Amino acid sequence: MYRSLIYSILIISLFSFSNSYSQTTQNENYQYYIDLNKSENGKLPVELITPDFSSSTVLFRFPAMVPGTYKIYDFGRFVSDLKAFDESGNELSVSKQDENTWEISGAESLYKITYMLKQTFGDTTGKSVFEPVGTSFEPGKIFVFNNQGIFGYFDGYIENDYVLNITKPEGFYGSTSLDAFERTNTLEVFNSPDYAFLVDNPIFFNVPDTASIIFPEAKVLISVYSPGKGITAKDIQEKDKELLEGIRNFLGGKLPTDRYTFLYYFSDSKTGSGSYGALEHNNSSLYFFPDVPVQAKSFMLSQLQSTTAHEFYHVVTPLNLHSEEIGFFDFNNPVMSQHLWLYEGVTEYNADYIQLVEGLITPEEYATAIQQKLNGASRFNDTLPFTFMSKNALTPEYEEQYLNVYLKGALIGMCLDILIREESNGKQSLQDVINSLIQKYGKDNPFKDDELFGEIEALTSPKIGEFLNTYVGGPSKIPYEDIFAKVGFKIEKIPYEAVNTSGVAMGFNQDTYRLKIVNTGPAGNKFVEDLGIKVGDEMVSVNGVAITFQNARGIFGSQKNKIKKGDEMVIEVARPKAGGDYENIKLKATITETKTNYDFKVDVNENLNDNQKMLKQAWMGK
Ligand SMILES: [Zn+2]
Repeated sequence: MYRSLIYSILIISLFSFSNSYSQTTQNENYQYYIDLNKSENGKLPVELITPDFSSSTVLFRFPAMVPGTYKIYDFGRFVSDLKAFDESGNELSVSKQDENTWEISGAESLYKITYMLKQTFGDTTGKSVFEPVGTSFEPGKIFVFNNQGIFGYFDGYIENDYVLNITKPEGFYGSTSLDAFERTNTLEVFNSPDYAFLVDNPIFFNVPDTASIIFPEAKVLISVYSPGKGITAKDIQEKDKELLEGIRNFLGGKLPTDRYTFLYYFSDSKTGSGSYGALEHNNSSLYFFPDVPVQAKSFMLSQLQSTTAHEFYHVVTPLNLHSEEIGFFDFNNPVMSQHLWLYEGVTEYNADYIQLVEGLITPEEYATAIQQKLNGASRFNDTLPFTFMSKNALTPEYEEQYLNVYLKGALIGMCLDILIREESNGKQSLQDVINSLIQKYGKDNPFKDDELFGEIEALTSPKIGEFLNTYVGGPSKIPYEDIFAKVGFKIEKIPYEAVNTSGVAMGFNQDTYRLKIVNTGPAGNKFVEDLGIKVGDEMVSVNGVAITFQNARGIFGSQKNKIKKGDEMVIEVARPKAGGDYENIKLKATITETKTNYDFKVDVNENLNDNQKMLKQAWMGK
């Protein structure tokens, strides 16, 4: 019968489809098959039908680093049991070349690769991975796909298409800016035109809590995972809408992308990298923050607003304006650019500034934000040229200075904006300069690292070139008081003495909620040596005062904790013993050397002269 024939063909084709990966025809694409239902104990098995090769050997790789992170993570560390097969199922020889690379012999007959992944969330076996870059496999809850931790690539075949066939538990949905070919109750099929695009588009698979915001030019999806349900996509939708309207207005009335996905993961886990934050992409951003009870919702929403503004502004830079080091990004041999002050600093400046000019925060709140940045930046090496630090941010010697990009980097952005306006009698802004540079360069046309300062000078004035060379490319300290006064901010510098503990670095133990010594610094610091502090010691009290988050910064001297040369300092630490216990020990040393530090206080000055009024008006855009 005609009818039954069609029916049986349908059955056969359905049957062959559901078993397709044993018979998938090889072509030029990477054809990936993952079944989320097969995940156990933070692991996930993966199958890849490889592109067809004619060479005898191929290298299969995972990235050492991905764009936007400025840190080497070696994603190959999370891959095990990698096996290669020909079409008949015979195993081919595989040898591991380094942390991220596998060499496969007999590649002419290579058909399939299988491997086991371990999630990066909660991993403590090595350098921890910042969660917004990582992966998590939590059956029944969520699967976080930052694709550099899931999918690999063959050397020389990074431009080939990817087809991802993901079998999922019923009720789960894949939130992403990737194109979905197909979505059924149990299967989602995504496509990516190349590896870089795949890495640029993370995915959340979970029971969806989503909301959208529609602009004429752009569709925005918000996807939230909050195990305690203290915060929902609907809560965030309202805030993000207000913020995106502000950013849109600031950027000339149009969002610079046609689609965007916000992925918010709120964590209830105590084992993490110790950092919270987010990572930007061209069409999405992924956030990792603590899960908060409903009472703390408004606090969390205001925290998120600044981070969301920061990540979204990244569409401007580095995503649409960057140097060759970023544009021709090498996943396995990354090279740094000198201009983190632009990619991260100007972005962080604009995150606050856009909120100020769009009326989302008050001038007083903005002053507090600058104050925090000035105080934060004072903990870093202020005479290390910023371009040099940026270029060397991946080296062990300078990686601890990296976080200053969000502090001093943002202050550099503010100084430039003010000075560019001053030089142009209020007519030109930093964003105008960036827009001109995007017109000239843009996403696919990187600038040369060494030429950027000259380019900016050509668009502005010699004084701006001098500022860049002296304070961003050189070791001189920026005269913040003078520059910020031009738009009506008063900065007070309040001096205090502190023990010189250069190189002593502290982390945070999430289980004990105490600060922990992670580095005792270079040898030869008499005070640190006399004290006898050790890596692993956790800080309990100083001179009898318990150490809390509020006073932690002042352990070695502050306005409140006044110290001077010749004083004896007593620090009580909890020192870890074998078996997981701690022993409390009092360490003593006499202070032999101090240095003068400053606290910054920033206020809005209402008493302005005509020049200040003009410039403030230009800077505030009204
Ligand atoms: Zn950033």
